[in-house]
Amino acid sequence: MTWNVKILISEQQIRDRIQELGAQISGDYQGTEPILVSILRGSFLFLADLSRTLTVPHEVDFMAVSSYGNAQESTGVVRLLQDLSSDVSRRHVLVVEDIVDTGLTWEYIRANLMTRRPASLKIVTLLNKEERRRVDVPVDYAGFVIEDAFVVGYGLDYQQKLRNLPYIGVLQE
Ligand code: IMP
Repeated sequence: MTWNVKILISEQQIRDRIQELGAQISGDYQGTEPILVSILRGSFLFLADLSRTLTVPHEVDFMAVSSYGNAQESTGVVRLLQDLSSDVSRRHVLVVEDIVDTGLTWEYIRANLMTRRPASLKIVTLLNKEERRRVDVPVDYAGFVIEDAFVVGYGLDYQQKLRNLPYIGVLQE
């Protein structure tokens, strides 16, 4: 199977922007030991690169949710597939996401984690499709605001493929 993918955000642009985000986050979290909660599977590459730019001591943990099945459109139903290993009560929690699209996934994760009484709860997302929002959720840090197109690469998949592309691309028809 060959795919026709048009580059939207290059490897270099991703690297540069993550450096900036890392510096900003390191400044904001100075004096704390946050826990980064990576939402599987899409954010694994972003977590790996962001974590290495942070100068504050931090932990990482993982949570898996599913909202899409194999479709390109959100079903609106979010399911918890795998929970955290750590207790995040009284911890500074920074959720790491690949993309906030309708906002339904982040809304679900946010409500779920809030019940555990963290000291603080924020999100960093690599991509933000602002115009697609269906619920009004706060986004604390975003790498790039993008327009409405289905994107793949750098962790983002189409039917579980293409996560390994080093850039963000738009899947062409
Ligand atoms: P939301 O619940 O609509 O905000 O969607 C969040 C999740 O949908 C992300 O974590 C992705 O896994 C997936 N998603 C949304 N837009 C795209 C896209 O353009 N490409 C690949 N996955 C996407």
